[in-house]
Amino acid sequence: MDYTTQMDAARKGIITREMELVARKEKRTAEEIRQWVAEGRAAIPCNRVHKALDPNGIGSMLKTKINVNLGTSRDCMDLDTEVEKVNRAVAMGAESIMDLSSFGDTRVFRRRLTAECPAIIGTVPIYDAVVYYHKALKEITTEEWLDIVRMHAEDGVDFMTIHCGINRSTAKRFKENRRLTNIVSRGGSIIFAWMEMTGKENPFYEHFDDILEICREYDVTLSLGDACRPGCLKDASDISQIEELVTLGELTRRAWEKDVQVIIEGPGHMPLNQIEANMRIQKEICKGAPFYVLGPLVTDVAPGYDHITAAIGGALAAAAGASFLCYVTPAEHLRLPNVEDVKEGIIASRIAAHAADIAKGIPSAMDWDNEMSLARKNLDWEKMFSLAIDPEKARRYRAEAKPEKEDTCSMCGNFCAVKNMNRILDGEIVNIFEE
Ligand code: SF4
Repeated sequence: MDYTTQMDAARKGIITREMELVARKEKRTAEEIRQWVAEGRAAIPCNRVHKALDPNGIGSMLKTKINVNLGTSRDCMDLDTEVEKVNRAVAMGAESIMDLSSFGDTRVFRRRLTAECPAIIGTVPIYDAVVYYHKALKEITTEEWLDIVRMHAEDGVDFMTIHCGINRSTAKRFKENRRLTNIVSRGGSIIFAWMEMTGKENPFYEHFDDILEICREYDVTLSLGDACRPGCLKDASDISQIEELVTLGELTRRAWEKDVQVIIEGPGHMPLNQIEANMRIQKEICKGAPFYVLGPLVTDVAPGYDHITAAIGGALAAAAGASFLCYVTPAEHLRLPNVEDVKEGIIASRIAAHAADIAKGIPSAMDWDNEMSLARKNLDWEKMFSLAIDPEKARRYRAEAKPEKEDTCSMCGNFCAVKNMNRILDGEIVNIFEE
């Protein structure tokens, strides 16, 4: 091969197979995709070891992608069950799966994913290090943290969340400017605790060049983690979040100098009126690198409904420039999601992503809506079910309350505006009460 990473190829003017596939899916030219990858404005996470991958591009000019978090845990460690959840998530439209396994031999599941799963696979090596080394957190050495990153790259992971933005300077600022909810990022809290206990610099920040070498060798996309993402509305856009973002901007430039693809992780919890400004600040500081948002959740008071709070924020974020939405389930803040929670989280994220794609003028995004609207006008229920983002639910709801008149629904019955307008415009008499 004449190139190392997709970014390296793009900069050399090479159009890779992956760029061609992405171009076809996005209804763009391969040259456009190459250009955006070369500039870092789009990323195609594709570890050369992940042979089962059906590649996708991530960038604000492309369709908004969604990620689903899954993986084994102490309370759910059956591999086949997790694989089944992964398959269902992919079938429901998730382009990416983050394996957040935190129990048992995580390597077995990870390798199975990259051997079988066509979705982009992401991981958070910090979590895995704690499980893998089976020892007290402060005993993990700098070398061991880095070894885990290499292991994940060897296993075929396409992108890794690396919490390298929280260095000792950010940690000091964080302690001087206390927050309502401190650090809520799992990886961020781990590395902060490690730095506090050992007195050492964040190994992922200090040895960033070593990480870049690994990423370059396997074409792993770096997902620069936001340890200081706000965990409540009150902490949004505070000093710690912005200081970390500035560091991520600097690290983005260093990664691009080595042709390593980058995406930036973002908030978090955030009032609706701050989201657009945050997307603009990220785009400026990180020079257009794709933004991967975890929500944003637009209110803190809806446990049980956080797929909705996240979808509202996600739609606004993506319309304003975010490229990649991490799903949130109704179980967020409460428990491990079950299969139904996973489904609701995916649907909510897909709605947010699609709404944003329409707003930002993604080619043919609105065709789907126009088809649905035509089916509604024609009262073509089967067509409506087939076009629904959740056909099973649409069909079940209608079946649960059958209308007297088969072509209407039980909402308005004889008062059905659609039916009555169709009839009057066709020259028919509309009586309503006598029908
Ligand atoms: S009955 Fe009412 S809600 Fe149902 S299809 Fe007709 S207008 Fe729409």
